[in-house]
Amino acid sequence: MTDADYDDLMPNAMKYHMSAEAFREHGYAMIDWIAKYMQAVETYPVMSSVKPGDVRANLPAQPPQHGEPFEQMLRDVDEIIMPGITHWQSPNFFGFFPANVSGPSILGDLLASGLGVQGMLWATSPACTELETHVLDWLVDMLDLPERFKSTTAGGGVIQDTASSSTLCALLAARERATSFDVNEHGADRKLIAYCSNQAHSSVEKAVKIAGLGRANLRLIEVDESFAMRPQALAEAIARDAAAGLTPCFVCATVGTTSSNGLDPVRAIGEVCKRNNIYLHVDAAMSGTAALCPEFRYIHDGLELADSYCFNPHKWMFTNFDCDCFYVADRAALIKTLSVQPEYLKNKASESGGGESGGVFDYRDWHIPLGRRFRALKLWFVIRHYGIEGLQSHIREHVKLSQEFASWVEADDRFELVVQPPLTLVCFRLSRGSDEMNQQLLDDLNRSGKLFLTHTKLDDKLTLRFSIGATYTERRHVEQAWALIQQTASA
Ligand SMILES: *Cc1c(COP(=O)(O)O)cnc(C)c1O
Repeated sequence: MTDADYDDLMPNAMKYHMSAEAFREHGYAMIDWIAKYMQAVETYPVMSSVKPGDVRANLPAQPPQHGEPFEQMLRDVDEIIMPGITHWQSPNFFGFFPANVSGPSILGDLLASGLGVQGMLWATSPACTELETHVLDWLVDMLDLPERFKSTTAGGGVIQDTASSSTLCALLAARERATSFDVNEHGADRKLIAYCSNQAHSSVEKAVKIAGLGRANLRLIEVDESFAMRPQALAEAIARDAAAGLTPCFVCATVGTTSSNGLDPVRAIGEVCKRNNIYLHVDAAMSGTAALCPEFRYIHDGLELADSYCFNPHKWMFTNFDCDCFYVADRAALIKTLSVQPEYLKNKASESGGGESGGVFDYRDWHIPLGRRFRALKLWFVIRHYGIEGLQSHIREHVKLSQEFASWVEADDRFELVVQPPLTLVCFRLSRGSDEMNQQLLDDLNRSGKLFLTHTKLDDKLTLRFSIGATYTERRHVEQAWALIQQTASA
């Protein structure tokens, strides 16, 4: 039977759906569109220049009463949507952090959409759970993470939407551990204290607010000249709080801060946490991927002292957003923190052990939402397409280019490096320039459309951030960017 025959068999009630035949035709067109985009993206101005409201002004006020042809949607993508896109996939995108994607990842994501399964329980699609557990165990080996994060021990890994969610889940598990699961039962405890460096990601503050600890109970620990947390200052803050009758319960160390790529010393922090029986979460959202290469694994030194860890393949591992890998050493504690058992989800497989005694994993108990997409597919496709060797090669290239860029900055006395870049984020500024002059330089560069950079404040001074990690960035793009920066600074 042909697709058309199948379409003829469809009952009248199905007539509004897209037929398999039409799906195939439009699907090919969509893939062609994306492939062309990948090839052309470097020619687009990187930053969208639309004004607030411009995109909406071009959209009809009312949704259509009658269905429209797909071709029209694609046309509107070109005319209305594309002008409002900042091109994160451009090889000239050096802003914020990478959010790199790749062919195998896009196709894996498409397959997940096509299957459309809900992976909340093992029983709701066994492959969705088992592939995820398996690929996350692979990644423990690939990054040489501690064995205690493997599913074959008391720990295990799960894909979360974002690092922000991982931090929140870790904080909730820490909160329950510190109160013998009492907050879960009886509500907030105002004495719990959390710690991170004053360079940690804003998601820690958000988690502290959501988890009910209160922002006043988050201590921002000072950093050293490389913007890494001072373990001694952490130990002192914990001692002060404990002496005041408070309960220190959670430390978040960052491996690669967003602002400057600061690397908190995990081992020294872990020892402080051990001595004080405090839960340690390690946030390596941006930089954890570096550990694919043995020469960068020093960033994780002491990780076996952590209770949980996360990194984002959706930043620097060629995997489409969203994909954050979250590992815990004690999955039973996480599951106990987040599990609820409504009657309508009860099933034999779950009751066979719930993952705690070697039964199945029900991943809805490992994070906040109930429903979950089949995100392991894209990660599996990426790892199989590139192989460890391919991933390592690209990571090494990005680090090498960043180090070269930093050496060019150092060699030009109009500029200064604010800190030696450990990996792929270079923080620099005009050495004799005010904040206004640095801001002007940044604005002029971004307005050119030829590249895109963002800024931060370090030691209270405006600093330009040059972050390398887009999929298609090559040496020539970094060279062109540096030439343009030099030229713009002299203008
Ligand atoms: C980017 C980043 C985050 C936030 O990542 P999401 O996955 O978007 O929540 C958290 N921590 C660090 C260190 C980051 O670089």
